Amino acid sequence: MSTTERPRILVVGGGYVGLYAARRIQKKMRYGEATVTVVDPRSYMTYQPFLPEAAAGSISPRHVVVPLRRVLPKAEVLTGRVTTIDQDRKVATVAPLVGEAYELPFDYLVIAMGAVSRTFPIPGLAEQGIGMKGIEESIGLRNHVLEQLDKADSTTDEEIRRKALTFVFIGGGFAGAETIGEVEDMARDAAKYYTNVSRDDMRFVLVDAADKILPEVGPKLGQYGKDHLESRGVEVYLSTSMDSCVDGHVVLKNGLEVDSHTIVWTAGVKPNPALSRFGLPLGPRGHVDTQATLQVQGTDYIWAAGDNAQVPDLVGRKAGNENAWCPPNAQHALRQAKVLGDNVISGMRGFPQKEYSHANKGAVAGLGLHKGVAMIVMGKMKIKLKGRLAWYMHRGYHGLAMPTWNRKIRIFADWTLGMFLKREVVSLGAMETPREEFYEAAKPAPAAPKAADKGALGAEKAGEKPAAGKTEKTEAKAS
Ligand SMILES: Cc1cc2nc3c(=O)[nH]c(=O)nc-3n(C[C@H](O)[C@H](O)[C@H](O)COP(=O)(O)OP(=O)(O)OC[C@H]3O[C@@H](n4cnc5c(N)ncnc54)[C@H](O)[C@@H]3O)c2cc1C
Repeated sequence: MSTTERPRILVVGGGYVGLYAARRIQKKMRYGEATVTVVDPRSYMTYQPFLPEAAAGSISPRHVVVPLRRVLPKAEVLTGRVTTIDQDRKVATVAPLVGEAYELPFDYLVIAMGAVSRTFPIPGLAEQGIGMKGIEESIGLRNHVLEQLDKADSTTDEEIRRKALTFVFIGGGFAGAETIGEVEDMARDAAKYYTNVSRDDMRFVLVDAADKILPEVGPKLGQYGKDHLESRGVEVYLSTSMDSCVDGHVVLKNGLEVDSHTIVWTAGVKPNPALSRFGLPLGPRGHVDTQATLQVQGTDYIWAAGDNAQVPDLVGRKAGNENAWCPPNAQHALRQAKVLGDNVISGMRGFPQKEYSHANKGAVAGLGLHKGVAMIVMGKMKIKLKGRLAWYMHRGYHGLAMPTWNRKIRIFADWTLGMFLKREVVSLGAMETPREEFYEAAKPAPAAPKAADKGALGAEKAGEKPAAGKTEKTEAKAS
């Protein structure tokens, strides 16, 4: 890492907030004014609203991520995890991908570590659950679902088939409703390529503890979203939760029991738990407590925004809700990052800080190809859209919001190709263990059999039945 005499602005996290804030700071900064260092365990930013479409194969997974080193050419990008912050010494501890952890001094600090899946101690969840926070999970889910169709198509065991063709999604917010919408659409569409699996053989179950889905688009459109999913054969169970899912046997509080190999967990997020080691003031649910200027309470050199921060919602407070906080979504993260970037520059130059204030512009959600819901807020008016028009709004909004022209063009190209070519339905499950086949070919041959074994093998050759253990050895060698 660089050891210049310039002040260092350390950005912890290269997601939405980290990437946009670092870009803003670099844009506004004078030449040589500071060193911007971004630390993230991944070398790329993930555009999470596109994860469901990546899972459905409508967008190439590589186009959903933005390489940090490429879009931040003047910044120092370190691939690793910030594990602790020492505020007295203004030093962060970084655990790199490999090797010893080291200390990194900073002058200004941006906390942008986002959120992690919010889970509960449900028996079986850790072993069976599939999250939907990163591109790896999105690719994994796609491969897994298509693999279930491959399995069901090739077995004669009805129990295995049923379990493979049952897909359970827990959580019906943005992430859950969009993911089940996209995956159901993709899986039923893929059925046409299978001899022994039809669209109607699949069972999709959506569960939410609340009494509605898609709260982000309001009650009417949420109800429409539910009715729409049900019209496609999705079973939606509200005001209930999952009690257990040991070995894929899902038990819901409402008494329903199903067996499934696919349990997708999208039941909300919580602030990154690593924050508890940073010694920063935290709110009741673990968010970093910030002022409207995005400065962390009680500090003038640390800022925080996005899913890991509780930022006062000035618009909501002006309207009379004293306890209004900005919700954790991309709309706020993006705008907060820009104000945060400006405030870091102002802080460095001794200028006053700007307060963050943003009125909700609405929400868009895609529920599969040509299906969606959208609520656009224009002043006091709320425009509600559904179906194909809402889906175009969803694609248009997110396509343009995708960072960098390079990525925007790739996404629109994927969609355009998708209009002419059929959806890709190949399962590349083996990608998760790419070395397995080579290992089988290259692993050292087993030691030469001892005298006693030789006798057994000789007996086998002569048509005699060897002992069970010896058969296994011979088979392994043959394969
Ligand atoms: C499936 C899905 C769909 C969504 N759809 C929508 C939508 O349609 N509309 C909408 O407005 N919002 C949507 N969201 C929410 C939106 O993506 C988030 O609100 C937004 O990403 C928050 O940005 P952030 O920078 O706070 O966090 P993130 O973008 O998650 O970035 C956090 C970064 O911190 C890094 N990090 C974590 N720990 C450390 C550490 N110890 N040290 C260094 N770095 C660390 C992570 O690797 C990550 O890169 C969706 C989210 C999901 C999961």
